[in-house]
Amino acid sequence: MKPTQTDSPFDLQPRRLWRDWQILCGDIGELRAGTEGERRAAALLVDRLRKAGADRVWTEDFDCQSLRSSRVQVSAREGRRWRPVAANIVTGAPGTGPVEGDLEWWEMPESAHRLKPGCLRGKVVAIFGPLPTEVQHHRRLVEADPAVVIHVDERLPFSWTKSDGVYPHWARHYGMPSIITVPYTDAWRWRRERVGRVRVEATVRLEPAQSQNVIAELTGTEPGLPEIFITAHHDTQAGNPGADDNGSGVVCLLELARVLAARPRRRTLRLVSFGTEEQLSVGSAAYVRAHSLELAKAGLVVNFDSVSSPLGHFELSCVGKNSLARHAVRALADRNLDVVLRRVVTPFVDNFPFNWAGVPSLWFMRTNFPGGRWQHHSPHDTLEHVSVDEVMRLLRAVVPLVDDLARDERWPFAAGVPVAQRAEARRLGRALFGFRS
Ligand SMILES: [Zn+2]
Repeated sequence: MKPTQTDSPFDLQPRRLWRDWQILCGDIGELRAGTEGERRAAALLVDRLRKAGADRVWTEDFDCQSLRSSRVQVSAREGRRWRPVAANIVTGAPGTGPVEGDLEWWEMPESAHRLKPGCLRGKVVAIFGPLPTEVQHHRRLVEADPAVVIHVDERLPFSWTKSDGVYPHWARHYGMPSIITVPYTDAWRWRRERVGRVRVEATVRLEPAQSQNVIAELTGTEPGLPEIFITAHHDTQAGNPGADDNGSGVVCLLELARVLAARPRRRTLRLVSFGTEEQLSVGSAAYVRAHSLELAKAGLVVNFDSVSSPLGHFELSCVGKNSLARHAVRALADRNLDVVLRRVVTPFVDNFPFNWAGVPSLWFMRTNFPGGRWQHHSPHDTLEHVSVDEVMRLLRAVVPLVDDLARDERWPFAAGVPVAQRAEARRLGRALFGFRS
């Protein structure tokens, strides 16, 4: 959707925002971790942040796994012939040579307790439900030793598959079966038609590569005060330009940099766009590891990830004290933005490594579907399906919120992360990232 108007307070400029969005998700396109596209996005960010007037702008490289090529073939025997089905790899899971076998269906996670070592050896296993999110379920699946796992994502009852990833920490420490995904509608037909036999072959080439975080600083007049981080991620999943996930967050970060650079402030604003978020917040985890000592100065993270759906609900996920949640909801409502407040610690997002380190966060997102966003991680996440108007509505409320906090001598809320959320962040950090606390 094209921009229609110009905004006056804080000089927010929808046309400028839309131009960068077009370069990022139209000209550059797919921004997979460790690829030329991701590097070009980082270079664009450096250029725009310098022009915005940031005091310092730099990049920090870190190691990642980059998907170089993949090819999946799946067919099912329907009657006397083999019928091919569109399928996708799962980044981080290994491929498999040709496998033919009887389909064995597992409804997860409720049946995870039945998995025994070796019970799926050599079998083609179809999982309906999410891939394991609990480490003990994952280890049971690995020990059951399937030849290949066909994943049917229950959140997307459509005729396409999405690109997904697995936790690098799990792949390194517990092993990872070969996993591919097929569309929900095909899996549905398999069940209805009692399709029993399938063939799978998946070639995956993953290589070690470099990804980068882009960091900019808008220095405040009182360096002793806790700093505010404004964050987003610029990488995408395979096979799509990530216009919503997360071109939308990147253009928010750039617009905030431009309008806030010119404003007086006590607190330092640190803007960080992470690489390799789509492999489970690899870039933000690298940042937190590299800057662990300086994190004592981090007072709040304001993260933007997927905020541009034309139809939807703005959600604010707050990891922090009640007073932070109350303050944010009220300040946004005063600027005509009503949000759905969520208070859960989510590990699949860039503010998580900061939460693990004890830094509170506000994560803005916009959902359009009970599974999240229907277009995500698929070829449908394009500029056709985003709304500049909604992003401007969000910024008109968030910019004054951040601007006030940057000028405040004292936070209007209690600092830190509550004990229960901190404990949950530590548990998830250990289980999913291998963080040691
Ligand atoms: Zn994202």
